[in-house]
Amino acid sequence: MKLKEIAIGYIEIPLVTPFKTALRTVNSVNDLIVKVTAEDGIEGYGEAPPTAVITGDTKESIEAAIRYYIAPSITGMDLDDLPSIMAKMEKCLAKNTTAKAAVDIALYDLYAKLQKKPLFRLLGEKDPSAVKTELETDITISVNDTDEMVRDSVKTVGEGFRILKVKVGKGGEKDVERIREIRKAVGKDVVIRVDANQGWTREEAVSTITAMEDAGLGIELVEQPVSYHDFKGMQYVTAHVQTPILADESVFSYEDGVRVMEEHGADLVNIKLMKTGGIHEAVKICDAADRFGIKCMIGCMLESKVSVSAGVHLAAARSCVTMADLDGPSLCKVDPYEGGPVYQGPKILLSEDYGIGITKVPVKFERI
Ligand code: MG
Repeated sequence: MKLKEIAIGYIEIPLVTPFKTALRTVNSVNDLIVKVTAEDGIEGYGEAPPTAVITGDTKESIEAAIRYYIAPSITGMDLDDLPSIMAKMEKCLAKNTTAKAAVDIALYDLYAKLQKKPLFRLLGEKDPSAVKTELETDITISVNDTDEMVRDSVKTVGEGFRILKVKVGKGGEKDVERIREIRKAVGKDVVIRVDANQGWTREEAVSTITAMEDAGLGIELVEQPVSYHDFKGMQYVTAHVQTPILADESVFSYEDGVRVMEEHGADLVNIKLMKTGGIHEAVKICDAADRFGIKCMIGCMLESKVSVSAGVHLAAARSCVTMADLDGPSLCKVDPYEGGPVYQGPKILLSEDYGIGITKVPVKFERI
């Protein structure tokens, strides 16, 4: 069965509240959607969120990468040989992980449909007994003034979420105060993950995290305390605090992941399909995590249900994935799609529908 054509279109979905981190503020999801079609008419869908401050990929660069490089390279290839398609896509242009991820996800969706399997069953064939059918996601609390963050946290816990991912990284001492007040307001049973999004220096990270430890704030982990290219800084922080450190922006590729695992650049790894360039490379990081005995989170950028659901399928398939940060659809005001995993507050329920499961994507597609 050959890959007959690739089409692209755009979707815009407003957010419930603006998404604010140490790096950016965003008001709506504005993503490119990819549709791949097999010779027999079966379709697969993928999604690309332009996250320039993290991946370097913009709306224009993603579209150009797919239109001028990826589509001409892989259209007409044999869908039964997915590894060859992935190798060709990897070679046709360097980096551009978001564009590659969107096409990779669409191809996996299509491939699983052709195999008549849900994607998570297909990805979980290495160890079917470890496959999960339900996940619990955390939800992001944006970085704001402490009062607003406390209000957001209390509201979110009231909606049933039990794991908060709190964005900090805008001032060490203020960050301790933010977490102290949130902990006071939500009580001790709520899990708090802290994400600094590269916002601290290594010394600031150690003193801030140590202050949180000394205050008994019960932080589960701290994500990406220092700049993504400061590998030694990540090692330093990991070695000097008790709280587990999770590498996010430091790990894009399989090679990045292996380096962190081998050289103890962090205790945990956050895999995001938009950083790895899709499922193909993410699976390799999961294999490495199994070898090293490292636990992983599957995270997402600010994305809607198509690509987040691809992350859901991978998270459900692999035992090394013990944490889900797949709150994109929960942050969107509406769900414009039909089918796919069901997002019920913090719970995500997988179905036995083939592929990713999404059946309707209300986008005007242009064949390229
Ligand atoms: Mg992060």
